[in-house]
Amino acid sequence: MPRIRRSDVPGVYTDGERLYTENLVPGIAVYGERLVSQGDVEYRAWNPRRSKLAALLKKGPAVFPFGRRTEVLYLGAAQGTTVSHLSDICADGTVYAVEISRRAFQKLLALAERRHNLMPILGDADAPDGYARLLAPVDVLYQDVAQRDQVGIFRKNLPFLRPGGLGLLMVKARSADVTARPVDVYAAARRDLASAGLDVLQVAELDPYQEDHAAFLVETA
Ligand code: SAM
Repeated sequence: MPRIRRSDVPGVYTDGERLYTENLVPGIAVYGERLVSQGDVEYRAWNPRRSKLAALLKKGPAVFPFGRRTEVLYLGAAQGTTVSHLSDICADGTVYAVEISRRAFQKLLALAERRHNLMPILGDADAPDGYARLLAPVDVLYQDVAQRDQVGIFRKNLPFLRPGGLGLLMVKARSADVTARPVDVYAAARRDLASAGLDVLQVAELDPYQEDHAAFLVETA
């Protein structure tokens, strides 16, 4: 078994091929991922086919905006697969995790019972007034909702981002328009983000890990 070591990205580890985060809750796997102990540290394998953020790491992000104390607003948390790795990385920060599906939210709630930095919110990212009172300004806005109006939802949540904060929008081309070519969907998303006053730092297509998905890394101007 190859040795796990720090990667070039703070908070992310590698054995040369696979990615890992340090388990905030040793002994507990979240979604059936492999746990690996080395010395007195336990790592959780992070699969780029299960998580778009891991896929972005494999592709090479221009900036990785997460660190130990980062405050994150995460829209479309589902059962918490990617959220759990962010909770590992942002160990002294907070991950506000918004999810609309009650069924997925139950799993998120159970996850938050063990993870002190995870704040689950049952809510609709398209109607952020419903959870605005629960939030403090965040360093990173992350969205993965796979909805038709992905950029519109992202824009509605920009007021939660502190000045100079960074955004990561995962765009699913087929959610925006099943008939359009992904390249055209990404070009339209880039235009919409720029017209919202954002600097688009990177557009990374996530194939082959996540087909027809792209990650948009943006900065408030
Ligand atoms: N981000 C998750 C991960 O990597 O572990 C996977 C997210 S899944 C592709 C999309 C999620 O967005 C679903 O759980 C869905 O219920 C949620 N979603 C869709 N529309 C939403 C909305 N308006 N507000 C909040 N969550 C939403």
